[in-house]
Amino acid sequence: MINQEIPHYSNWIDGAYSPPSSSTLPVINPATEATIGTVDATSHDEVQEIVTKSWKNFNQGAWSTAEASERFAVLSKAATLLRARIPEFVQLEVQQTGRPIREMRAQLARIPEWLEYFASLARVQEGAVTPFKGPVVNTLIRLPLGVVAQITPWNHPLLISIKKIGAALAAGNVVIVKPSELAPISILQLGPLFKEAGLPDGTLQIISGYGRETGKYLCEAPNLSKIDLTGGVATYQAIASSASLNMIPITAELGGKAPVCIFESMNVEHAVKAALFASFIASGQTCVTGSRLLVHTDIYDSFVEMLGKRTKALRLGDPTDPRTQIGAVINKAAVERCAAFVSRATTQEGENGKLLCGGKPATHAGKGYFFEPTLIETNAESYLACNEVFGPVIAILRCKSEDEIVDIANGTNYALGASIWTQDFTQAHRVAGKIEAGIVWVNGHHLNDPSSPWGGFKDSGLGKENGREAYESYTKVKSIVYNYGVMPTWFDDEDVLGNARICIEHMVLRTTSGSGCNLE
Ligand code: NAD
Repeated sequence: MINQEIPHYSNWIDGAYSPPSSSTLPVINPATEATIGTVDATSHDEVQEIVTKSWKNFNQGAWSTAEASERFAVLSKAATLLRARIPEFVQLEVQQTGRPIREMRAQLARIPEWLEYFASLARVQEGAVTPFKGPVVNTLIRLPLGVVAQITPWNHPLLISIKKIGAALAAGNVVIVKPSELAPISILQLGPLFKEAGLPDGTLQIISGYGRETGKYLCEAPNLSKIDLTGGVATYQAIASSASLNMIPITAELGGKAPVCIFESMNVEHAVKAALFASFIASGQTCVTGSRLLVHTDIYDSFVEMLGKRTKALRLGDPTDPRTQIGAVINKAAVERCAAFVSRATTQEGENGKLLCGGKPATHAGKGYFFEPTLIETNAESYLACNEVFGPVIAILRCKSEDEIVDIANGTNYALGASIWTQDFTQAHRVAGKIEAGIVWVNGHHLNDPSSPWGGFKDSGLGKENGREAYESYTKVKSIVYNYGVMPTWFDDEDVLGNARICIEHMVLRTTSGSGCNLE
């Protein structure tokens, strides 16, 4: 049922908004608990129909065979249009996620750069000619994969969707995006923007719905060319078996438990600022949240005292107020998950956690889903130190040496991001080499750029976003081998018995006439 007073945001299919689905779902502002819109709960049949239409669009070739210069022009124009509308998108992101407006302004200001970067890659992409032996020219060209599915999370709705959409479109694919049901509205606004930029209708399809329904139906479509997921490990596990049966490759950007490794050469005040930045951006709801502070014992006590004071003073509240530093968490379940982590860390036998500050749910003007920024002193084996909270509950660990910091940093199943804070250059270099993580920052955290590959090791995922790796993961390589030597004579009796002497060297069969062929 469509409520006339609450706006409905329909799926964007084949260049237009579709009529609303028979079933819809609400999108809630987590800071106010108000419903800000409804979106479609796209059904199984609708998903199948959209996949079929998308293949038709791909095969028609309006985008998949477009010139590189055209892809460049469309994506560049989309970047310009997006840049002009950033203030409007900032408002939407703040409403959907409850994140502070100052964070969303900073993040969204850079998002058009992802479209510009991938536009540029599309324009300069060159094929290759291999040093193939013999009178042969072997060219390699990159082709789009086909119809690809992108399943995106709620914590950086636009950033993560644009990262994936930019790479996939630059490579010439038809893209079906299924944003998180918790924050889909900004993504649904991208349809008209790309159309205005000149993207052929039906090249970017945007569909809404619950992950366990619409997301599942989409990922189970047997003829997708790729699935690109950002989400939790459990979601990867839910989609992996059908994707594997259908031989669909997956890029998976999953969770993390990023260590913030603070060494004794650091000025304590700088170290505290570093920890606040690493740990409490997005109320701790990023995959690279600095959720484990591993602090050398020589500065530990003064660090903890100063960090505690600064954390208690953080301004939690209305995300639309530019002075707010800590916004909401995404929903009631997130508040409950944070509270459960605190309770387990501080009361369960063997955990031995000591609550230094925070630890409780909060509200703003009596409403909303907030959680106080929380610091808990704990040990490396504790549940809190090894598992992703995805909220502002941070573990602090006293470490006696560089070796211990490295061992603890590498001691979880996750390996996405890590930061090293030190004034000792040789230590920075040495420790960066030893940390197991897809991204290691030295004297920085959360740093991200479209050119810099982003993705984790171990349970943190497979494959990369950003950079050439992401672009190339949306392509397939076709090898064309042109023979300009003699025609094959292999089964020609006269040739074999008469003129030709065949020698086998290094798996190469070569006739005396000089034409070479690898037998494969
Ligand atoms: P989630 O896994 O619950 O949801 C992610 C997306 O998957 C959503 O669109 C959801 O609807 C969909 N989904 C859920 N179940 C599905 C299923 N069975 N089949 C298909 N789709 C399904 O994750 P979330 O709560 O939105 O995001 C938080 C998680 O994402 C955290 O673990 C976080 O670390 C991770 N994350 C990782 C990165 C990264 O770059 N590595 C970035 C952001 C978030």
